[in-house]
Amino acid sequence: MNTTEPTPASTTDYDVIIIGGSYAGLSAALQLARARRRILVVDAGHRRNRFATNSHGFLTRDGQPAADIAAEGRANVAAYPNVGWHDGVATAARHDGGIDGHAFVVELDGARTVRGARLVLATGVRDDLPHIDGLAERWGKSVFHCPYCHGYELNEGRIGVLASGPLSVHQAQMLPHWGHVTFFTNGVCSLDDAQRADLQARGVQIDETPVLRLVNVATVVLEDGRQEIMTGLFTYGRVHMSSPIAEQLGCAFDAGPLGPFIRTDESRQTTVPAVFAAGDAMRAASSVALAVADGAMAGVGAHRSLLFGVTPFAAPMMAVASSASALATESSSASATESASASHSGAR
Ligand SMILES: Cc1cc2nc3c(=O)[nH]c(=O)nc-3n(C[C@H](O)[C@H](O)[C@H](O)COP(=O)(O)OP(=O)(O)OC[C@H]3O[C@@H](n4cnc5c(N)ncnc54)[C@H](O)[C@@H]3O)c2cc1C
Repeated sequence: MNTTEPTPASTTDYDVIIIGGSYAGLSAALQLARARRRILVVDAGHRRNRFATNSHGFLTRDGQPAADIAAEGRANVAAYPNVGWHDGVATAARHDGGIDGHAFVVELDGARTVRGARLVLATGVRDDLPHIDGLAERWGKSVFHCPYCHGYELNEGRIGVLASGPLSVHQAQMLPHWGHVTFFTNGVCSLDDAQRADLQARGVQIDETPVLRLVNVATVVLEDGRQEIMTGLFTYGRVHMSSPIAEQLGCAFDAGPLGPFIRTDESRQTTVPAVFAAGDAMRAASSVALAVADGAMAGVGAHRSLLFGVTPFAAPMMAVASSASALATESSSASATESASASHSGAR
């Protein structure tokens, strides 16, 4: 451990550049701001949950406007004088030497560049929704993907699950805890006998008539002319990286049930040294709470690598444990618990 070396940031504009200024990026920024590092947050302003008015399941902010939670987070971070903010897009990033061999050049809006010693990618994902007439405009209002986020508010009413592939069976199996479920297989999900029996045992009605469109709040119009009035609908889309930067930098990805996510180790470092990732971009199971937790870990991870040097991917945190803060210790154990629960929830 050598804390007397000059910080690698001395030839850079910023110690850490955080790309993505929503829940994960803000949480990383807060840790780094409080560590008195010079940081820049770059944010294009397209949160994944911008289609929903309220956010649920984040302790102390349950049911509050998703935009307010993000705005208050931004205000928390902006209160620190060592934080810079850029409203815009990081259009490219590349590795570029630096005192310890790790510095990055980030291009902003295709117009100018900034240099940072560490990067945190908190760029999130975008949802590629099933092509059903009327679905996109109801996304986040009466059509959802996560029952933990929006299931309770349906008040145990009629819930439709719109199949988008084989994984939809899992969604239909989960939802009876939130209401009376009809599974619309819509020609994209064929059930074997065991799945059919399992769904029926859970009280799920199976409707195999093709879906024509959605109307009103959440009414499913079927090809045979029936209109099934639902309280709310659930479906899975495919998820894609919101930004190509992780790929540009050479980060490894893992295959999730709904799409790829950036591989990280316990400190949230990616397979590219000195590049960290947090939030939906690096996990299969997503929520504001998990993004905030990841962000805190990535912020601390990036700070540790400034202090003690870059460690290889998956290096045990024990190397710096002697100076671990209470926060970091808690974050490590939270991470272990969360890995277990993420593998339990898989896609949801
Ligand atoms: C409809 C819907 C409803 C949801 N409801 C809930 C809920 O009730 N409760 C809950 O816990 N979770 C909910 N979620 C999940 C939640 O939205 C995500 O888990 C959370 O937003 C992840 O936070 P994040 O910071 O990782 O990514 P995001 O919030 O998606 O933020 C990523 C940020 O990075 C920016 N960005 C991306 N690329 C670049 C770039 N190149 N340059 C600059 N900026 C960039 C984006 O513009 C965006 O601001 C919902 C999701 C959806 C789709």
